[in-house]
Amino acid sequence: MTTSYEGRVAVVTGGSSGIGLATVQLLLSQGANVAFCARGEGRLRDVVSVLQRDYGTEKVLARALSVLDAGAVQEFASDVASTFGRCDLLVNNAGQGRVSTFVETSDEDWRAEYELKLFSQIYPIRAFLPMLKSSKGAIVAVNSLLAYQPEMHMVCTSSARAGVQNLIKSLSMELAPDVRVNSVLLGLVGSGQWTRRFAEREDQSMSREQWYGNLARSKGIPLGRLGDPSEAAAAIAFLGSRAASYITGAQLDVSGGLSRHI
Ligand code: NDP
Repeated sequence: MTTSYEGRVAVVTGGSSGIGLATVQLLLSQGANVAFCARGEGRLRDVVSVLQRDYGTEKVLARALSVLDAGAVQEFASDVASTFGRCDLLVNNAGQGRVSTFVETSDEDWRAEYELKLFSQIYPIRAFLPMLKSSKGAIVAVNSLLAYQPEMHMVCTSSARAGVQNLIKSLSMELAPDVRVNSVLLGLVGSGQWTRRFAEREDQSMSREQWYGNLARSKGIPLGRLGDPSEAAAAIAFLGSRAASYITGAQLDVSGGLSRHI
């Protein structure tokens, strides 16, 4: 069956868990060859063996590295070029949020957060740009609604995410017409950080369903629940696909209606 990613090559940063992993799986299921990275070797190895079993060894390439290591990201791009020969889609997903108010945030925290949010975009985009240009490819930045709707308890994450949106808009102009550049704005997705916070919940007798349900109610999410990683992955895959061929410089809100701006 010919699907939208047949014969195409996608790169996903932070592909060993949560939204990144759901994106890797979706793209593989739609026929793409997929390369992904994450820092932790153990989890990466486990995930790769399952994916290679399900989709074939030759479809998957994985490297253990931090996206904040410019040299390692460049080597990753060289490996993708020598293995797959092209790159049609770069999904910049690696990262995590930082919970802290202004008073709690040290200078070191501010620098670390800005470095993570901005250079997790800059290094991969620089490394994969030549291939993206020659394939007339696309970049999707996984960003957060916090960029437009800051939260007091995530002050430096919110601020850095606004900077990422600004960068993505600039790139959508500078890289046009060769490369499309878009972002997804996530609300609360039941992966990574929320799984960790659920594990640390005060009332350990509460089930995941109850805890997530309470969280959705307390946040006032109109759809009444957290998003699933597969729902974020579907939006990412759409923006990267030919179906989105006239979309660049856009942001797709994947927040169950949590966004209050028009
Ligand atoms: P997870 O923690 O489930 O997955 C994060 C992935 O990124 C892991 O594979 C992790 O592997 C990898 N990673 C983290 N830091 C680096 C790094 N420096 N270099 C390479 N890989 C890295 O998170 P989610 O799926 O929940 O989140 C995915 C993205 O979406 C993140 O950027 C997050 O900030 C953002 N987001 C998520 C929201 C949510 O509600 N879940 C809301 C808003 C934004 P390893 O640790 O082994 O490196």
